[in-house]
Amino acid sequence: MAQQMAWIIVSLAISLVLTMWLGLWGIIPSIAIFIGISYYMRKRAMARMGMGGGGGGFGGMLGGGGGINYICIACGHRFKGGACPRCGSKMRRADF
Ligand SMILES: [Zn+2]
Repeated sequence: MAQQMAWIIVSLAISLVLTMWLGLWGIIPSIAIFIGISYYMRKRAMARMGMGGGGGGFGGMLGGGGGINYICIACGHRFKGGACPRCGSKMRRADF
C-alpha cells in the first residue's frame, strides 16, 4: 500500500514536470503516464492477492470470475470452476 502511494506520487511528479516543460500539451502524455502506472500497479496488486492464497476471491470478484475458490459441500474438497473434481457434486459454496 505504501509502495503504491509512492508510485502515485512519482507519477504525479512526472506529470507536473511534463506540464511545466510542455505547457498545456504536457497534460496529455502525463495523463497517459498516470493511467498507465495506476493500471500497472492495480494489475500487480491483484496478481499478488491472487497468488497469496486465502484472499484469492477478491481479485476474482473484481475481474469477473476465474479467481474464486469453491468448497464442495458433499466432500469438503477445495476447487475452482463449476463442479467438484473429486466427487462431481455441483453443491458448492464460495470460499473467501
Ligand atoms: Zn466433492
